[in-house]
Amino acid sequence: MSPPDLPHHVPQHQFSVHGQELVVGGLPLSRLAARVGATPFYAYDRAVIARQVAKLRTTLPKTLELHYAVKANPMPAVVQHLAALVDGFDVASAQELRTALDTGKSPMQISFAGPGKSVAELHIAVAAGVLVNIESARELPLLEHASRALQLPARVAVRINPDFELKGAGVKMTGGARPFGVDVEQVPELLRELAQRKLAFEGFHLFCGAQNLHAQALVEAHTLTFELAMRLAELAPAPLRILNIGGGFGIPYFPGDPPLDLGPIAAGLELHLARAAQRLPGMRVVLELGRYLVGEAGVYVCRVVDSKLSRGKLFYVTDGGLHHHLAASGNFGQVLRKNYPACIGTRMQSVEQAVANVVGPLCTPLDVLVQQMELAHADVGDLVVIFQSGAYGLSASPTQFLGHPMALEVLV
Ligand SMILES: *Cc1c(COP(=O)(O)O)cnc(C)c1O
Repeated sequence: MSPPDLPHHVPQHQFSVHGQELVVGGLPLSRLAARVGATPFYAYDRAVIARQVAKLRTTLPKTLELHYAVKANPMPAVVQHLAALVDGFDVASAQELRTALDTGKSPMQISFAGPGKSVAELHIAVAAGVLVNIESARELPLLEHASRALQLPARVAVRINPDFELKGAGVKMTGGARPFGVDVEQVPELLRELAQRKLAFEGFHLFCGAQNLHAQALVEAHTLTFELAMRLAELAPAPLRILNIGGGFGIPYFPGDPPLDLGPIAAGLELHLARAAQRLPGMRVVLELGRYLVGEAGVYVCRVVDSKLSRGKLFYVTDGGLHHHLAASGNFGQVLRKNYPACIGTRMQSVEQAVANVVGPLCTPLDVLVQQMELAHADVGDLVVIFQSGAYGLSASPTQFLGHPMALEVLV
């Protein structure tokens, strides 16, 4: 049975309900909590991740390669699960690179992006044989040096900061002044320098922005991305073997957020891929997604430890909070705080509802998980669920703040 559409919520249909309990990974929530052994915890549902990848595979062009951006959720079990589902990984640190390599994925299918890569990281990347997405001219001599020292080719792509942006993206990464990539105006000069050095040039990388729910904006960005790649290919020291068009596919978090319509995106990409196959034969095109693959598959679960009424407002004090889930508290890039979808996962059929606040144990007014939301009446011991928590959750939270225990993570 599907959970009811919760009021003031983006509908959550990825998990079923059994009696009073939300079912995650095939287990009723209290059983899952008992199995995990402690609250709070994150649970990621492997079937939901697999379904999301399958949806993309059936909708998007067959020749488009799909990469997972590890930073969205670097839990090793999640990355291992995705290794069997996606074509490759994108990493942004040496630690993420180790996690990606541990899955057994070929280094030919791993790329490494990020500004300010250390000398050690560049050395590791060359030793591993992965593709380095260059963010600055500074990386060229360092990579050439690593290549000579290791007697291995340094595989490089140039990450471009184009002169266009991704309209409507929750997080913009290009257009204007950015620390990411090389400004498109500077790319010809960089390509000239690259040609002088002993580096294995393979292509270009663009990542325009994240958390976009507007298909049309993504279609436009893709059109501009392919145009730019075609133009710059003429200045490149070698034929393009790879074009990483970034990602930016968003998931609905807040009331009124529509799910992303993949149809127009797929149609646009079909066209661009067909044209690219003629003009730049042999070029692989890669879409790199993080949040879209894992975000909806995850829940954060914490336990009510106290229930208080303060001047007419109801507070469920839990053992979880912003130290585990900064994004749900609204302190990870939200301008106006909005509630993530949430429920009392052990009272799914309750008729008794109340407007309540869910807070954590931290001595700061920022430690709010849910603000003034209609929820099932809960008692001490009940389990609160925060949906849409599979991406930018635990690893994007200040886990040391106030020194409470770490949240556990399970893949179910
Ligand atoms: C963060 C990041 C991604 C993933 O973004 P999502 O919004 O999670 O899809 C992809 N590529 C690069 C280069 C990134 O830095």
